[in-house]
Amino acid sequence: MNESQLRVRFAPSPTGYLHVGGARTALFNWLLARHAGGVFILRIEDTDRSRSEEAMTAAILEGMSWLGLDWDEGPFHQADGLERHRADAFRLLEAGHAYRCFCTPGVLEERRAAAGTTPDAYRYDRHCLTAVPAAEGERRASAGEPHTIRFQVPDGRTEWQDAVHGVIGFDNADIEDFIILRTDGSPIYNLAVVSDDVDMRVNLVLRGDDHISNTPKQLMLYRALGVEPPRFAHVPLILGTDGKRLSKRHGATAVGEYRHQGILPEAMTNFLALLGWNPGTEEEIFTVPELVDAFSLERINHKSAVFDPDRLLWLNGQHISRTSAAQLADGFVAQVEAAGLANGQELRARDQELHTLIDLLKPRARVLDDLCAQAGPYLAERVTVDEAAAAKHWKEPALAAERLERLRERLAGVEPWDEETLEGVLREEAEALGVGAGKLIHPLRLALLGVAVSPGIFEVLVYFGRERTLLRIDDAVENLRRRAA
Ligand code: GLU
Repeated sequence: MNESQLRVRFAPSPTGYLHVGGARTALFNWLLARHAGGVFILRIEDTDRSRSEEAMTAAILEGMSWLGLDWDEGPFHQADGLERHRADAFRLLEAGHAYRCFCTPGVLEERRAAAGTTPDAYRYDRHCLTAVPAAEGERRASAGEPHTIRFQVPDGRTEWQDAVHGVIGFDNADIEDFIILRTDGSPIYNLAVVSDDVDMRVNLVLRGDDHISNTPKQLMLYRALGVEPPRFAHVPLILGTDGKRLSKRHGATAVGEYRHQGILPEAMTNFLALLGWNPGTEEEIFTVPELVDAFSLERINHKSAVFDPDRLLWLNGQHISRTSAAQLADGFVAQVEAAGLANGQELRARDQELHTLIDLLKPRARVLDDLCAQAGPYLAERVTVDEAAAAKHWKEPALAAERLERLRERLAGVEPWDEETLEGVLREEAEALGVGAGKLIHPLRLALLGVAVSPGIFEVLVYFGRERTLLRIDDAVENLRRRAA
């Protein structure tokens, strides 16, 4: 075995969906593994293997697959390690690092009340450590008396060099002798995690800041088990734009919801990577291979990250612009067909035109749905004129008709039908008429699309081609004549 090979894991609890924070933790671990040629392990921290846990796990795996976060080992299920967890607890017991505790919840509650502390502040008074010698504990356990197993917290301080925060330390006196095995024989979270991480030879644990308070307990367990602990890196919380911890109030928190909102997985990955990682350059757009290349533990911020949905949309727009029309085509055709805007098969048959259209719409799309939402005027047989736009750009219908007709004549004969030539012709016409180019462009846009905004008019002309352009101008002139009459 290669001892120096990085081994990291993502260990989600099956909550039924992949949360943005979890996805970020998964991504950071995955990037570190891919960057270093290490191993990325997936472990589901389920407490049992019921059908409902399986279903909740499936949603997490689906989210990870969508993001392209493939794992090298697993998915392992924590519930499958139960016997090992128990064996580790008994090893600790035999080595004198743990003891049996027969204090019942009722007795504990009485002592807490007598001590006058809140449940959070109460620390177990070690009654059974002194009152129940080991041999007696064994006897009572064999007789079936309900009890837990508690870890005996050593004196001193527990510190570690956190890869994100630097040295973090806790006084052991602040940590009670915590339970490692419950009355029903099931392991407590901290024991299961340590047992699994040891078993999977994890050598870097990167997880959310909310686990910092677990780390001293886990470190104590490593030491008591005689195992070298992994390195720890705790990534800062994700906050909403109001500075409060990210929650449903801020919008979607499940990765799957962003998928349904038309976010590309590359954009989501890019966005999540920047939630707490500083690339150290002005660059904001990263492809996945670029992230793999650039990502490093050293550049993870120790301050909390802010989840800004506008930034996600902006990044998504950038990624849509950079995605080839061929890659976007299937999704686009499916949406356009579902919206009743075109026949998918016919659209696919004219793939050159389809790709030109997607390229035309791409720069204005922030989510995938925007492509379809803008596509109507380009795919419709006939133009539907937006009256507000007409009131503005076809204010004098007779004049607009006259100008469009003149332009039509020029366009009928122009060669070649490309952006540059078309622009030249239009500008010449405008000059000949003694008006600014806009006085021709706006009415023409309305004639071609029926709306006031669009990508560059010359690109639009190229997309339609000569024949369809002339037909649309004819329709518009007819429409304008009616308006003038
Ligand atoms: N299962 C824990 C969680 O979902 C993560 C445990 C860990 O990363 O150590 O928060």
